[in-house]
Amino acid sequence: MDLYSGYINKLIDELAGLPGIGNKSAQRLAFHLINLPEARVQRLAKAMVEAKQNVRYCKDCFTLTDSEICPICANDRRDHTTIMVVENARDLAAYEKTGKYTGVYHVLHGAISPMLGIGPHDIKLKELMERLSGEQNIGEVIIATNSSLEGETTAMYISKLIKPLGIKVTRIASGVPVGGDLENIDEVTLLRALEGRVEL
Ligand code: ZN
Repeated sequence: MDLYSGYINKLIDELAGLPGIGNKSAQRLAFHLINLPEARVQRLAKAMVEAKQNVRYCKDCFTLTDSEICPICANDRRDHTTIMVVENARDLAAYEKTGKYTGVYHVLHGAISPMLGIGPHDIKLKELMERLSGEQNIGEVIIATNSSLEGETTAMYISKLIKPLGIKVTRIASGVPVGGDLENIDEVTLLRALEGRVEL
């Protein structure tokens, strides 16, 4: 026998399918939502649907944006000859928060992980290579993937692809804790990792 109504069970199932939310949290969230005023719930649902319908990848760097080109790529004052490769849009946000990086980015949307069956074709790597061969004056590619096994594997893979193009490839310093998500690292540590980058 189901303990809750069918609608609540359905809601719990949907919430439990989200990352980082276990069954208990899903139940707690479901009951919280049920107890909210209907207007609040409508607003939340609308925000989710609108984000899904309107957010897309930047044509150049593949970060998530509302327009064809993201504000960073569209900014003439940024150094478009330096590209920092990050795993996801949250890592990009972490570097942007330091306010010290003036180049542009490339967002991979993942990292190579043989264990999880994620290969080079499952991330935006082909797009990076197309971008590099399409642009003439790239001075440096900074690989800022996480220092996890997946991040290091990805960094090595990318550097091997880029080096034959004659473009300087650097890797952020390993002051970043192993396995740590870049977004959880403080700005000083991020800047130190960036400044201490080494050529691969
Ligand atoms: Zn962009």
